[in-house]
Amino acid sequence: MALVAVDRGHGWGNKFLWLYDSGAVGLVVEAEITLLLASMINIKLNYDGIETFPIRVGGKETARLLWRGIQLANNKKCSRYVSVHVNSDIQKSGEGWELWIRKDDIHSKLLASRIYEQLNNTIKDKMSFRGIKETDVLQVCVKTQMPACLIELGFVNSEKDVELLKSISFLNQCARAIVNGIKDDLK
Ligand SMILES: [Zn+2]
Repeated sequence: MALVAVDRGHGWGNKFLWLYDSGAVGLVVEAEITLLLASMINIKLNYDGIETFPIRVGGKETARLLWRGIQLANNKKCSRYVSVHVNSDIQKSGEGWELWIRKDDIHSKLLASRIYEQLNNTIKDKMSFRGIKETDVLQVCVKTQMPACLIELGFVNSEKDVELLKSISFLNQCARAIVNGIKDDLK
């Protein structure tokens, strides 16, 4: 039975249990966008009959430290781990979306490829793709014991990206594509 960890990326308790972590702040607030996106992904997976382990998807009552969420997902033997973010850069010139996976892990690469195919089909005319990137630093990629993918959907300071991120319909399309990608990988 599949169990998918859906990590909102930021929100209550991410860095310190008593603190709200807003993530990047630019023309939009990262944690507000990722709450919407993670909630949509969570609901769609459940609607399609797939059990989820939501991490920080909600208000203060969902507060959970980053390492603790990862530890629980490992203990629960989640089948996949998906973390959603919105990017930022110091120059404020970045735009587009990208995927992050742990280095040299074929299973995470497959998951990322499935998500890429679905999401790229859905948004290729709207938002540019920056690639599938490997990390040996990002905790949700490195410390998780199942195929894991971190999605950076646009940049908080890109007017072009933010125009899209402010649209519920765009986020809904992205959530559907991400869910379809996860489901392709679970087949
Ligand atoms: Zn983030």
